[in-house]
Parts: sequence; structure tokens; C-alpha cells
Amino acid sequence: MMIDKLLGMIFPGELHCLCCGSILGSRRRYPICDDCIGKFGWVTENTCRICGKPLAKVNEKRGICYDCSESERTFDKGYTCALYGLYERALIMDLKYRDKSYIARALGLIMADRVLAEDEGGAGPAWDFVTWVPVSKKRLDQRGYDQAELLARFFAEALSEGRGRSGLDAPALKGLLERAKDTAPMKDLGIAERRENVKNAFKMKRNAVVKEKSVLVIDDVFTTGATLEACARALKEAGAAGVDVLTFASGGDHRGRSEDREE
Ligand SMILES: [Zn+2]
Ligand SMILES: [Zn+2]
Repeated sequence: MMIDKLLGMIFPGELHCLCCGSILGSRRRYPICDDCIGKFGWVTENTCRICGKPLAKVNEKRGICYDCSESERTFDKGYTCALYGLYERALIMDLKYRDKSYIARALGLIMADRVLAEDEGGAGPAWDFVTWVPVSKKRLDQRGYDQAELLARFFAEALSEGRGRSGLDAPALKGLLERAKDTAPMKDLGIAERRENVKNAFKMKRNAVVKEKSVLVIDDVFTTGATLEACARALKEAGAAGVDVLTFASGGDHRGRSEDREE
């Protein structure tokens, strides 16, 4: 079983487009064909200066999205690669529910390129460690892997192989955060209820490790940010000096319509 998963991780992604399955004729950075890659909503400019999601037109001037203006933010800065649209969602669903763990390798690479792009001139972000939002024990047993862990591991690997400064090279550390309680599904909850739902949902296991360090927390999708916010709070309470967050995709900037993390 485990071996199947490992083989699945190395094997199919490189030959076929992860999105449409067409054969990839030439070498390319990501195993995604040109047609499909053009359909992603890549996030580049006009992003929220706190969480990094693309801003609604009306919020561009003040530079902060609805969710950040209505929530307390403990993390320092957020980064995301793409808007959570049809193509992004299909990849995340494949990764989480269709046993296609190998997708994490491509997404981890895309996420590394996203933060390396911030590094022009050598003044970009730097972290001591990378960690991730852990899935619940129940999900881990069902799925056999933690998709956020895979993203973080491939991300850290790509980062260290990347063209970045040495300061960008941050190892993925397992077991910094753990779930302190099971949380209800977020789907039908409003923003305040979501915050309440995940409040104290995570606890730190290795406080001494993060003291005065800067940490990057990785997850697949950023929606209201309530889950990552809860993780950032646990890390800061344990003495972390800085906490940034990075996701592959982010929901749009609108009030009360965000989809949420589907475990
Ligand atoms: Zn394709
Ligand atoms: Zn924001």
C-alpha cells in the first residue's frame, strides 16, 4: 500500500498533463500543458498586503481584502499562487480525494517559484523552518497521507534546489503543530463561527524549537484564513518571532461568500 503511494508519487505526473491528461511532448518546468497553464488564475499584482489574496477592485486602493479588514491577523504575511478557480480546484480535489499524491510535487514546485519570485534583489522573505497545517487523525487514516505535509516537503526541496539566497533555504519540520480537537466542517459557517470553530484547534508540540525563529506555514487553500490564523497564533504563543503563510490557491476577495477548507 505504502509502496503504491510512493510509486504513484514519482510516476505519472511527468508524462501527462496533470489537468487534462494530454501527453506532454517537451520538457517543461511543470507537468501541465500550455493550454491548461493558461487557464489558471495566477496571482501576481494587486494583492492584499496582509494575506496575499487578489483584491477586489473596490479594495485595491486601501490594499487590504475584506477578510483581513474584519479579522485579527496574527501571521505577518501571506502568499498564494493562484485564485481558487475551476482548474485549481480540480487539482486540489485530485490531490485530496482521488489519491493522486504525486500532484503535490508539482504544486510544491509552483509554490517555491512563487516565493522565489519575491526574492528579486535579495530582499525577499526568509524563514528558519517550514511547517504545515496538519490534517486530523481521522483524515490521515482515510487518506493515507497528509496533503499539506507533502506540499511542504516538496516545497522545501524545491526551495533548496532553487536559485534563491541561502536564507531562503528552510527545512520542513514535522510535528510542530498538532490538532488539539476535532473541528466541525467549515462549509456552512459564517466568518465569526469559523474563527470560533478553529480557535485553539492547534497546539504546539515543540515549543523550544520555534523560539525566536521565523516559520512558514503551508496549506493547500486559503479561504477566510481562519485555519492558518489559528496555527499562526499557536506558533506565536510558543515564541515564534515571525509567521508567514503560503498556499497554492486562495479564494477571492468577497464578503461572506468564501468557500472554505475542505478537509
Ligand atoms: Zn492540460
Ligand atoms: Zn487579506
